[in-house]
Amino acid sequence: MTVKSAKTLVMKFGGTSVGSAQAMGQAAEIIKQARPEWERMVVVTSAISGATNALLDSATHAAKGDLQPLLDTEKSLLANHGKIADEQITDPTLRAQVKQDVAHLITAFGNLCRAIAVLGEASPRALDAVASLGERLSVRVLAAVCESHGVAAKYVESTQLVITNASFQNAHPDFGATTLATRSILNPLLDAGIVPIVTGFIGATPEGVVTTLGRGGSDYSAAILGAVLPADDVWIWTDVDGVMTADPRMVPEARTLPEISYGEIAELAYYGAKVLHPKTVRPVVEAGIGLRICNTFNPSHPGTRLVANTKNGKPVQSERIIKAVTAIRKQRLVTIEGRGMLGVPGVAARAFAAVASTGTSVPLITQASSEQSICFAVPSESVEAVLTALARIFSAELADRDIDRVWATEDVSIITVVGTGTRNTPGVAGHIFSKLGQINVNVLAIAHGSSDVSVSLVVESVDDEKSVRALHELIVSTARTD
Ligand code: ASP
Ligand code: MG
Repeated sequence: MTVKSAKTLVMKFGGTSVGSAQAMGQAAEIIKQARPEWERMVVVTSAISGATNALLDSATHAAKGDLQPLLDTEKSLLANHGKIADEQITDPTLRAQVKQDVAHLITAFGNLCRAIAVLGEASPRALDAVASLGERLSVRVLAAVCESHGVAAKYVESTQLVITNASFQNAHPDFGATTLATRSILNPLLDAGIVPIVTGFIGATPEGVVTTLGRGGSDYSAAILGAVLPADDVWIWTDVDGVMTADPRMVPEARTLPEISYGEIAELAYYGAKVLHPKTVRPVVEAGIGLRICNTFNPSHPGTRLVANTKNGKPVQSERIIKAVTAIRKQRLVTIEGRGMLGVPGVAARAFAAVASTGTSVPLITQASSEQSICFAVPSESVEAVLTALARIFSAELADRDIDRVWATEDVSIITVVGTGTRNTPGVAGHIFSKLGQINVNVLAIAHGSSDVSVSLVVESVDDEKSVRALHELIVSTARTD
Protein backbone atom coordinates (compact mmCIF):
# COMPACT_ATOMS: atom_id res chain seq x y z
CA MET A 1 0.00 0.00 0.00
CA THR A 2 1.31 3.41 -0.91
CA VAL A 3 0.91 6.34 1.39
CA LYS A 4 0.06 9.45 -0.53
CA SER A 5 2.33 12.12 0.73
CA ALA A 6 3.86 13.75 -2.32
CA LYS A 7 1.84 16.36 -4.12
CA THR A 8 -0.05 15.31 -7.23
CA LEU A 9 -0.70 17.49 -10.25
CA VAL A 10 -2.90 16.80 -13.27
CA MET A 11 -2.11 18.93 -16.31
CA LYS A 12 -4.25 18.98 -19.41
CA PHE A 13 -3.16 20.22 -22.82
CA GLY A 14 -5.74 21.31 -25.38
CA GLY A 15 -5.62 20.68 -29.12
CA THR A 16 -3.72 23.83 -30.06
CA SER A 17 -1.27 23.21 -27.21
CA VAL A 18 -0.18 20.00 -28.96
CA GLY A 19 -1.17 21.06 -32.48
CA SER A 20 2.27 21.47 -34.05
CA ALA A 21 5.82 20.27 -33.54
CA GLN A 22 6.66 23.53 -31.87
CA ALA A 23 3.60 23.50 -29.61
CA MET A 24 4.17 19.92 -28.56
CA GLY A 25 7.80 20.68 -27.81
CA GLN A 26 6.63 23.57 -25.68
CA ALA A 27 4.13 21.32 -23.87
CA ALA A 28 6.91 18.84 -23.09
CA GLU A 29 9.07 21.70 -21.82
CA ILE A 30 6.24 22.87 -19.53
CA ILE A 31 5.91 19.35 -18.16
CA LYS A 32 9.64 19.18 -17.58
CA GLN A 33 9.73 22.53 -15.79
CA ALA A 34 6.95 21.52 -13.40
CA ARG A 35 8.54 18.16 -12.60
CA PRO A 36 10.77 19.24 -9.68
CA GLU A 37 7.87 20.80 -7.83
CA TRP A 38 5.38 17.99 -8.43
CA GLU A 39 6.59 14.54 -7.62
CA ARG A 40 3.48 12.90 -9.00
CA MET A 41 2.25 14.23 -12.26
CA VAL A 42 -0.39 13.05 -14.73
CA VAL A 43 -0.76 14.63 -18.16
CA VAL A 44 -4.03 14.52 -20.09
CA THR A 45 -4.02 15.54 -23.71
CA SER A 46 -6.54 16.35 -26.42
CA ALA A 47 -6.12 15.27 -30.00
CA ILE A 48 -4.00 17.66 -32.06
CA SER A 49 -6.14 20.60 -33.19
CA GLY A 50 -8.52 19.77 -36.02
CA ALA A 51 -8.06 15.99 -35.71
CA THR A 52 -11.37 15.17 -34.03
CA ASN A 53 -13.35 17.26 -36.52
CA ALA A 54 -11.58 15.64 -39.46
CA LEU A 55 -12.11 12.13 -38.07
CA LEU A 56 -15.84 12.66 -37.48
CA ASP A 57 -16.31 14.41 -40.78
CA SER A 58 -14.70 11.48 -42.59
CA ALA A 59 -17.01 9.02 -40.83
CA THR A 60 -20.20 10.95 -41.57
CA HIS A 61 -19.24 11.33 -45.22
CA ALA A 62 -18.32 7.64 -45.40
CA ALA A 63 -21.83 6.80 -44.20
CA LYS A 64 -23.13 8.63 -47.28
CA GLY A 65 -20.74 6.76 -49.55
CA ASP A 66 -18.26 9.63 -49.94
CA LEU A 67 -14.78 8.39 -49.07
CA GLN A 68 -12.84 11.45 -50.22
CA PRO A 69 -12.71 13.16 -46.78
CA LEU A 70 -11.40 9.87 -45.34
CA LEU A 71 -8.59 9.78 -47.89
CA ASP A 72 -7.69 13.40 -47.15
CA THR A 73 -7.81 12.86 -43.38
CA GLU A 74 -5.66 9.72 -43.52
CA LYS A 75 -3.05 11.74 -45.36
CA SER A 76 -3.15 14.80 -43.13
CA LEU A 77 -3.12 12.82 -39.87
CA LEU A 78 -0.16 10.83 -41.08
CA ALA A 79 1.68 13.96 -42.22
CA ASN A 80 0.91 16.05 -39.11
CA HIS A 81 1.82 13.40 -36.54
CA GLY A 82 4.81 12.35 -38.65
CA LYS A 83 6.11 15.91 -38.75
CA ILE A 84 5.88 16.29 -34.99
CA ALA A 85 7.64 12.94 -34.54
CA ASP A 86 10.38 13.91 -37.00
CA GLU A 87 11.01 17.25 -35.38
CA GLN A 88 10.56 16.39 -31.72
CA ILE A 89 11.51 12.75 -31.11
CA THR A 90 15.28 12.50 -30.94
CA ASP A 91 15.79 8.76 -30.47
CA PRO A 92 15.51 7.14 -33.94
CA THR A 93 14.23 3.81 -32.59
CA LEU A 94 11.51 5.47 -30.53
CA ARG A 95 10.64 7.74 -33.45
CA ALA A 96 10.27 4.77 -35.80
CA GLN A 97 8.15 2.94 -33.24
CA VAL A 98 5.81 5.91 -32.76
CA LYS A 99 5.47 6.43 -36.50
CA GLN A 100 4.59 2.78 -36.92
CA ASP A 101 1.96 3.00 -34.15
CA VAL A 102 0.53 6.10 -35.79
CA ALA A 103 0.32 4.32 -39.14
CA HIS A 104 -1.46 1.36 -37.53
CA LEU A 105 -4.06 3.56 -35.89
CA ILE A 106 -4.67 5.37 -39.16
CA THR A 107 -5.16 2.02 -40.89
CA ALA A 108 -7.70 1.13 -38.19
CA PHE A 109 -9.45 4.43 -38.89
CA GLY A 110 -9.63 3.61 -42.63
CA ASN A 111 -11.08 0.20 -41.85
CA LEU A 112 -13.70 1.65 -39.52
CA CYS A 113 -14.79 4.22 -42.09
CA ARG A 114 -14.98 1.64 -44.86
CA ALA A 115 -17.17 -0.53 -42.63
CA ILE A 116 -19.36 2.52 -42.01
CA ALA A 117 -19.55 3.08 -45.78
CA VAL A 118 -20.65 -0.52 -46.35
CA LEU A 119 -23.33 -0.24 -43.67
CA GLY A 120 -24.38 3.16 -44.96
CA GLU A 121 -24.76 4.30 -41.37
CA ALA A 122 -22.54 5.73 -38.64
CA SER A 123 -23.97 4.77 -35.26
CA PRO A 124 -23.03 6.82 -32.18
CA ARG A 125 -21.00 3.83 -31.05
CA ALA A 126 -19.06 3.72 -34.33
CA LEU A 127 -18.54 7.50 -34.23
CA ASP A 128 -17.02 7.21 -30.76
CA ALA A 129 -14.64 4.52 -31.99
CA VAL A 130 -13.58 6.86 -34.80
CA ALA A 131 -13.39 10.03 -32.65
CA SER A 132 -11.25 8.28 -30.01
CA LEU A 133 -8.44 7.86 -32.53
CA GLY A 134 -7.40 11.52 -32.28
CA GLU A 135 -6.37 11.20 -28.64
CA ARG A 136 -5.01 7.69 -29.14
CA LEU A 137 -2.66 9.20 -31.71
CA SER A 138 -1.66 12.29 -29.75
CA VAL A 139 -0.74 10.46 -26.51
CA ARG A 140 1.74 8.23 -28.31
CA VAL A 141 3.50 11.17 -29.87
CA LEU A 142 3.45 13.34 -26.74
CA ALA A 143 4.83 10.55 -24.51
CA ALA A 144 7.76 10.10 -26.88
CA VAL A 145 8.33 13.86 -27.15
CA CYS A 146 8.43 14.03 -23.34
CA GLU A 147 11.05 11.26 -23.33
CA SER A 148 13.06 13.30 -25.81
CA HIS A 149 12.90 16.22 -23.37
CA GLY A 150 14.25 14.00 -20.61
CA VAL A 151 10.94 13.28 -18.87
CA ALA A 152 10.19 9.63 -18.10
CA ALA A 153 6.73 9.22 -19.59
CA LYS A 154 4.36 6.47 -20.69
CA TYR A 155 1.17 6.78 -22.69
CA VAL A 156 -2.01 5.35 -21.18
CA GLU A 157 -5.38 4.98 -22.90
CA SER A 158 -8.13 6.22 -20.64
CA THR A 159 -10.37 3.39 -21.82
CA GLN A 160 -8.61 1.55 -19.00
CA LEU A 161 -9.24 4.32 -16.47
CA VAL A 162 -12.50 6.14 -17.12
CA ILE A 163 -15.35 3.65 -16.89
CA THR A 164 -18.60 5.03 -18.27
CA ASN A 165 -22.15 4.09 -19.14
CA ALA A 166 -23.02 3.37 -22.76
CA SER A 167 -24.36 6.84 -23.67
CA PHE A 168 -22.14 7.10 -26.70
CA GLN A 169 -20.97 10.62 -27.58
CA ASN A 170 -21.93 11.89 -24.15
CA ALA A 171 -20.95 9.15 -21.75
CA HIS A 172 -21.28 9.54 -18.00
CA PRO A 173 -18.47 8.21 -15.80
CA ASP A 174 -19.02 5.73 -13.00
CA PHE A 175 -16.86 7.42 -10.38
CA GLY A 176 -16.57 4.33 -8.17
CA ALA A 177 -15.29 2.07 -10.95
CA THR A 178 -13.14 4.88 -12.33
CA THR A 179 -11.50 5.44 -8.96
CA LEU A 180 -10.49 1.79 -8.64
CA ALA A 181 -9.26 1.48 -12.21
CA THR A 182 -7.39 4.79 -12.23
CA ARG A 183 -5.60 4.21 -8.96
CA SER A 184 -4.59 0.67 -9.79
CA ILE A 185 -3.12 1.68 -13.16
CA LEU A 186 -1.70 5.14 -12.49
CA ASN A 187 -0.35 4.78 -8.94
CA PRO A 188 2.38 2.27 -9.81
CA LEU A 189 3.56 4.58 -12.61
CA LEU A 190 3.47 7.62 -10.33
CA ASP A 191 5.33 5.72 -7.62
CA ALA A 192 8.00 4.88 -10.16
CA GLY A 193 8.40 8.54 -11.09
CA ILE A 194 6.88 8.10 -14.54
CA VAL A 195 4.50 10.70 -15.99
CA PRO A 196 1.45 8.96 -17.47
CA ILE A 197 0.35 10.70 -20.66
CA VAL A 198 -3.36 9.97 -20.78
CA THR A 199 -5.93 10.35 -23.56
CA GLY A 200 -8.51 13.00 -22.79
CA PHE A 201 -12.09 12.78 -24.07
CA ILE A 202 -12.47 9.00 -24.06
CA GLY A 203 -13.56 6.27 -21.73
CA ALA A 204 -15.01 2.79 -22.05
CA THR A 205 -17.99 0.83 -20.81
CA PRO A 206 -17.32 -1.92 -18.24
CA GLU A 207 -17.26 -4.30 -21.22
CA GLY A 208 -14.48 -2.24 -22.79
CA VAL A 209 -16.41 -0.55 -25.61
CA VAL A 210 -14.93 2.89 -26.35
CA THR A 211 -17.08 5.89 -25.43
CA THR A 212 -16.50 9.65 -25.47
CA LEU A 213 -17.45 12.25 -22.90
CA GLY A 214 -18.77 14.79 -25.42
CA ARG A 215 -16.99 17.30 -27.62
CA GLY A 216 -14.35 19.30 -25.82
CA GLY A 217 -14.43 16.65 -23.10
CA SER A 218 -10.69 16.45 -22.39
CA ASP A 219 -11.03 19.14 -19.72
CA TYR A 220 -13.61 16.93 -18.08
CA SER A 221 -11.24 13.95 -18.30
CA ALA A 222 -8.60 15.94 -16.41
CA ALA A 223 -11.15 16.86 -13.75
CA ILE A 224 -12.31 13.25 -13.39
CA LEU A 225 -8.76 11.93 -13.01
CA GLY A 226 -7.91 14.76 -10.64
CA ALA A 227 -10.92 13.94 -8.49
CA VAL A 228 -10.38 10.19 -8.29
CA LEU A 229 -6.60 10.08 -7.75
CA PRO A 230 -7.03 12.53 -5.95
CA ALA A 231 -4.78 15.34 -7.15
CA ASP A 232 -3.96 18.55 -5.31
CA ASP A 233 -4.24 20.69 -8.39
CA VAL A 234 -5.52 20.51 -11.96
CA TRP A 235 -4.03 22.86 -14.55
CA ILE A 236 -5.71 23.35 -17.90
CA TRP A 237 -3.23 24.52 -20.54
CA THR A 238 -4.93 26.28 -23.41
CA ASP A 239 -4.15 29.02 -25.93
CA VAL A 240 -5.37 32.06 -24.00
CA ASP A 241 -4.14 33.62 -20.75
CA GLY A 242 -7.13 32.39 -18.77
CA VAL A 243 -10.67 33.58 -18.31
CA MET A 244 -11.19 37.10 -19.58
CA THR A 245 -13.61 39.80 -18.55
CA ALA A 246 -15.12 39.70 -22.05
CA ASP A 247 -14.40 38.39 -25.52
CA PRO A 248 -11.43 40.55 -26.59
CA ARG A 249 -12.77 40.61 -30.15
CA MET A 250 -15.77 42.52 -28.82
CA VAL A 251 -14.09 44.48 -26.06
CA PRO A 252 -10.48 45.52 -26.69
CA GLU A 253 -10.05 46.47 -23.01
CA ALA A 254 -10.89 42.93 -21.86
CA ARG A 255 -8.42 41.60 -19.30
CA THR A 256 -7.55 38.24 -17.78
CA LEU A 257 -9.18 37.58 -14.42
CA PRO A 258 -6.63 36.45 -11.83
CA GLU A 259 -9.38 34.68 -9.91
CA ILE A 260 -12.88 33.53 -10.56
CA SER A 261 -15.19 31.47 -8.38
CA TYR A 262 -16.52 28.08 -9.41
CA GLY A 263 -20.04 29.49 -9.53
CA GLU A 264 -18.98 32.35 -11.77
CA ILE A 265 -17.09 30.19 -14.22
CA ALA A 266 -20.03 27.82 -14.43
CA GLU A 267 -22.12 30.74 -15.70
CA LEU A 268 -19.43 31.75 -18.14
CA ALA A 269 -18.90 28.28 -19.48
CA TYR A 270 -22.62 27.94 -19.96
CA TYR A 271 -22.80 31.19 -21.81
CA GLY A 272 -20.27 30.22 -24.38
CA ALA A 273 -16.89 31.32 -23.07
CA LYS A 274 -15.13 28.36 -24.54
CA VAL A 275 -12.32 28.28 -22.04
CA LEU A 276 -13.45 25.36 -19.96
CA HIS A 277 -15.81 22.50 -20.63
CA PRO A 278 -18.81 23.10 -18.34
CA LYS A 279 -18.66 19.62 -16.81
CA THR A 280 -15.11 20.21 -15.59
CA VAL A 281 -16.08 22.24 -12.58
CA ARG A 282 -18.19 19.83 -10.57
CA PRO A 283 -15.74 16.99 -9.92
CA VAL A 284 -12.99 19.37 -8.82
CA VAL A 285 -15.28 21.39 -6.56
CA GLU A 286 -16.64 18.27 -4.94
CA ALA A 287 -13.15 16.90 -4.37
CA GLY A 288 -11.92 20.28 -3.10
CA ILE A 289 -9.18 20.45 -5.72
CA GLY A 290 -7.54 23.60 -7.05
CA LEU A 291 -8.02 24.47 -10.72
CA ARG A 292 -5.96 26.80 -12.83
CA ILE A 293 -6.24 27.83 -16.46
CA CYS A 294 -3.01 28.83 -18.17
CA ASN A 295 -1.55 29.57 -21.58
CA THR A 296 0.85 27.13 -23.23
CA PHE A 297 2.12 29.95 -25.40
CA ASN A 298 2.68 32.33 -22.50
CA PRO A 299 3.61 29.98 -19.66
CA SER A 300 4.98 32.63 -17.31
CA HIS A 301 1.56 34.31 -17.14
CA PRO A 302 -0.19 33.17 -13.94
CA GLY A 303 -3.50 32.60 -15.77
CA THR A 304 -6.77 32.33 -13.88
CA ARG A 305 -7.22 30.50 -10.58
CA LEU A 306 -10.56 29.03 -9.66
CA VAL A 307 -11.54 29.66 -6.09
CA ALA A 308 -14.33 28.40 -3.84
CA ASN A 309 -17.70 30.13 -3.92
CA THR A 310 -17.88 30.34 -0.17
CA LYS A 311 -15.58 30.60 2.77
CA ASN A 312 -16.90 29.78 6.25
CA GLY A 313 -20.38 29.56 4.77
CA LYS A 314 -20.31 33.07 3.30
CA PRO A 315 -19.98 33.93 -0.38
CA VAL A 316 -16.44 34.92 -1.21
CA GLN A 317 -16.57 38.54 -2.29
CA SER A 318 -13.91 39.96 -4.45
CA GLU A 319 -13.43 43.66 -4.93
CA ARG A 320 -15.23 43.53 -8.23
CA ILE A 321 -18.96 42.88 -8.09
CA ILE A 322 -19.18 42.38 -11.83
CA LYS A 323 -16.47 40.10 -13.14
CA ALA A 324 -17.28 39.48 -16.76
CA VAL A 325 -19.76 40.15 -19.53
CA THR A 326 -20.51 37.70 -22.31
CA ALA A 327 -22.92 37.31 -25.19
CA ILE A 328 -24.43 34.32 -26.86
CA ARG A 329 -25.57 35.12 -30.33
CA LYS A 330 -28.03 33.65 -32.80
CA GLN A 331 -30.87 32.96 -30.42
CA ARG A 332 -34.62 33.43 -30.90
CA LEU A 333 -37.14 34.23 -28.22
CA VAL A 334 -40.18 31.99 -28.42
CA THR A 335 -43.38 33.19 -26.77
CA ILE A 336 -46.47 31.15 -25.97
CA GLU A 337 -49.32 33.47 -25.09
CA GLY A 338 -53.01 33.32 -24.35
CA ARG A 339 -55.50 34.25 -21.68
CA GLY A 340 -56.63 30.65 -21.36
CA MET A 341 -53.24 29.75 -19.86
CA LEU A 342 -53.90 31.60 -16.64
CA GLY A 343 -53.83 29.21 -13.72
CA VAL A 344 -53.79 26.12 -15.92
CA PRO A 345 -51.16 23.75 -14.55
CA GLY A 346 -49.04 21.81 -16.94
CA VAL A 347 -48.67 24.29 -19.79
CA ALA A 348 -45.02 24.91 -19.04
CA ALA A 349 -44.32 21.21 -18.52
CA ARG A 350 -45.89 20.32 -21.85
CA ALA A 351 -44.17 23.20 -23.61
CA PHE A 352 -40.71 22.21 -22.38
CA ALA A 353 -41.36 18.53 -23.05
CA ALA A 354 -42.17 19.49 -26.63
CA VAL A 355 -38.99 21.56 -26.87
CA ALA A 356 -36.95 18.73 -25.38
CA SER A 357 -38.40 16.29 -27.92
CA THR A 358 -36.61 18.32 -30.62
CA GLY A 359 -33.28 17.87 -28.84
CA THR A 360 -33.04 21.60 -28.13
CA SER A 361 -31.81 22.95 -24.83
CA VAL A 362 -33.11 26.23 -23.48
CA PRO A 363 -30.61 28.81 -22.21
CA LEU A 364 -33.10 31.30 -20.73
CA ILE A 365 -36.71 31.26 -19.52
CA THR A 366 -39.03 33.94 -18.21
CA GLN A 367 -42.68 33.95 -17.24
CA ALA A 368 -44.70 36.91 -16.10
CA SER A 369 -46.79 36.51 -12.95
CA SER A 370 -49.95 37.05 -14.99
CA GLU A 371 -49.21 33.56 -16.34
CA GLN A 372 -50.50 34.69 -19.69
CA SER A 373 -47.28 34.08 -21.49
CA ILE A 374 -44.15 32.01 -21.27
CA CYS A 375 -41.07 33.19 -23.06
CA PHE A 376 -37.81 31.35 -23.61
CA ALA A 377 -34.76 31.42 -25.82
CA VAL A 378 -33.67 28.71 -28.21
CA PRO A 379 -30.76 28.64 -30.66
CA SER A 380 -31.89 30.11 -34.00
CA GLU A 381 -31.13 26.95 -35.91
CA SER A 382 -33.66 25.03 -33.78
CA VAL A 383 -36.51 27.53 -33.90
CA GLU A 384 -38.44 25.94 -36.74
CA ALA A 385 -38.44 22.50 -35.14
CA VAL A 386 -39.43 24.02 -31.80
CA LEU A 387 -42.36 26.00 -33.26
CA THR A 388 -43.61 22.92 -35.09
CA ALA A 389 -43.42 20.80 -31.94
CA LEU A 390 -45.26 23.46 -29.91
CA ALA A 391 -47.98 23.83 -32.54
CA ARG A 392 -48.49 20.08 -32.40
CA ILE A 393 -48.60 19.71 -28.61
CA PHE A 394 -50.96 22.68 -28.19
CA SER A 395 -53.13 22.05 -31.25
CA ALA A 396 -56.29 21.68 -29.15
CA GLU A 397 -55.59 24.85 -27.09
CA LEU A 398 -54.79 26.81 -30.24
CA ALA A 399 -58.01 25.64 -31.85
CA ASP A 400 -59.98 26.62 -28.71
CA ARG A 401 -58.12 29.96 -28.47
CA ASP A 402 -56.90 29.17 -24.94
CA ILE A 403 -53.53 29.83 -26.46
CA ASP A 404 -53.63 32.76 -28.86
CA ARG A 405 -50.32 32.31 -30.52
CA VAL A 406 -46.90 30.76 -30.44
CA TRP A 407 -44.30 32.88 -32.13
CA ALA A 408 -40.62 33.69 -32.32
CA THR A 409 -38.58 36.86 -32.71
CA GLU A 410 -35.83 37.45 -35.23
CA ASP A 411 -32.27 36.74 -34.08
CA VAL A 412 -31.46 38.11 -30.64
CA SER A 413 -28.46 37.85 -28.31
CA ILE A 414 -28.37 36.90 -24.65
CA ILE A 415 -26.01 39.10 -22.67
CA THR A 416 -24.89 37.76 -19.33
CA VAL A 417 -23.32 39.84 -16.62
CA VAL A 418 -21.43 37.54 -14.27
CA GLY A 419 -20.22 38.21 -10.76
CA THR A 420 -20.96 37.22 -7.19
CA GLY A 421 -23.12 39.98 -5.84
CA THR A 422 -24.89 40.91 -9.05
CA ARG A 423 -28.01 39.58 -7.43
CA ASN A 424 -27.59 40.52 -3.80
CA THR A 425 -25.93 43.89 -4.03
CA PRO A 426 -28.51 46.67 -4.14
CA GLY A 427 -28.21 48.89 -7.15
CA VAL A 428 -26.30 46.60 -9.47
CA ALA A 429 -29.34 45.77 -11.59
CA GLY A 430 -30.07 49.50 -11.63
CA HIS A 431 -26.59 50.23 -12.97
CA ILE A 432 -26.99 47.60 -15.65
CA PHE A 433 -30.30 48.89 -16.92
CA SER A 434 -29.44 52.56 -16.75
CA LYS A 435 -26.26 51.85 -18.67
CA LEU A 436 -28.26 50.18 -21.42
CA GLY A 437 -30.79 53.00 -21.29
CA GLN A 438 -28.04 55.56 -21.80
CA ILE A 439 -26.94 53.89 -25.01
CA ASN A 440 -30.52 53.41 -26.18
CA VAL A 441 -30.64 49.65 -26.04
CA ASN A 442 -34.01 48.05 -25.62
CA VAL A 443 -34.05 45.03 -23.31
CA LEU A 444 -36.40 42.35 -24.64
CA ALA A 445 -36.30 39.92 -21.70
CA ILE A 446 -34.54 39.47 -18.38
CA ALA A 447 -33.59 36.46 -16.29
CA HIS A 448 -32.35 37.52 -12.94
CA GLY A 449 -32.63 35.38 -9.90
CA SER A 450 -32.21 31.76 -10.89
CA SER A 451 -28.49 32.21 -10.56
CA ASP A 452 -26.72 33.83 -7.64
CA VAL A 453 -23.95 35.05 -9.79
CA SER A 454 -25.42 36.33 -13.00
CA VAL A 455 -28.01 38.49 -14.66
CA SER A 456 -28.99 37.64 -18.20
CA LEU A 457 -30.81 39.90 -20.57
CA VAL A 458 -31.89 39.63 -24.14
CA VAL A 459 -31.22 42.35 -26.70
CA GLU A 460 -31.63 42.62 -30.44
CA SER A 461 -28.63 41.22 -32.21
CA VAL A 462 -27.64 44.60 -33.67
CA ASP A 463 -27.25 45.89 -30.12
CA ASP A 464 -25.16 43.09 -28.65
CA GLU A 465 -21.67 44.39 -29.20
CA LYS A 466 -22.32 47.87 -27.90
CA SER A 467 -24.21 46.43 -24.92
CA VAL A 468 -21.33 44.16 -23.97
CA ARG A 469 -18.89 47.07 -24.29
CA ALA A 470 -21.01 49.40 -22.19
CA LEU A 471 -21.64 46.79 -19.50
CA HIS A 472 -17.95 45.95 -19.42
CA GLU A 473 -17.33 49.53 -18.23
CA LEU A 474 -19.34 48.67 -15.13
CA ILE A 475 -16.66 46.19 -14.02
CA VAL A 476 -14.56 49.08 -12.84
CA SER A 477 -17.27 51.52 -11.84
CA THR A 478 -19.16 49.08 -9.61
CA ALA A 479 -16.08 47.91 -7.70
CA ARG A 480 -16.80 47.23 -4.06
CA THR A 481 -15.58 49.89 -1.71
CA ASP A 482 -16.18 48.11 1.61
N1 ASP B 1 -10.57 16.16 -29.09
C1 ASP B 1 -11.88 16.29 -28.50
C2 ASP B 1 -12.67 17.34 -29.24
O1 ASP B 1 -12.16 17.99 -30.14
C3 ASP B 1 -11.84 16.57 -27.05
C4 ASP B 1 -11.12 17.85 -26.64
O2 ASP B 1 -10.38 18.42 -27.43
O3 ASP B 1 -11.31 18.29 -25.52
O4 ASP B 1 -13.82 17.50 -28.97
MG1 MG C 1 -11.28 22.70 -25.12
